[in-house]
Amino acid sequence: MSGKPINELGRSYGRLTVVRRCYFQDAAGRAIWRCRCACGKYTNVLGADLRVGRVKSCGCLRAETIQNATLEQRSMWSRLGGIASGVSKRREKAELAVYAE
Ligand SMILES: [Zn+2]
Repeated sequence: MSGKPINELGRSYGRLTVVRRCYFQDAAGRAIWRCRCACGKYTNVLGADLRVGRVKSCGCLRAETIQNATLEQRSMWSRLGGIASGVSKRREKAELAVYAE
């Protein structure tokens, strides 16, 4: 073991809740955390990505954004998004742009 990892256990980031630290690390030796998403799936996320807010779900958040945009249920999405995580219109557009690339 090298360094002293930041303890993320039990913390919540967006839809994710950290359940344990993974036994492996990334190439730079940074901690990777096992997270449970609000939708019930599990995903491994780099601690740094959690802390800067780059990763907030297992991927379902983006998928729902795309789906809602496709179905034009925009009013429902903004209501849910506003309550759940304060997702702004700007962020919604940013995620769509990333997905399109
Ligand atoms: Zn999810």
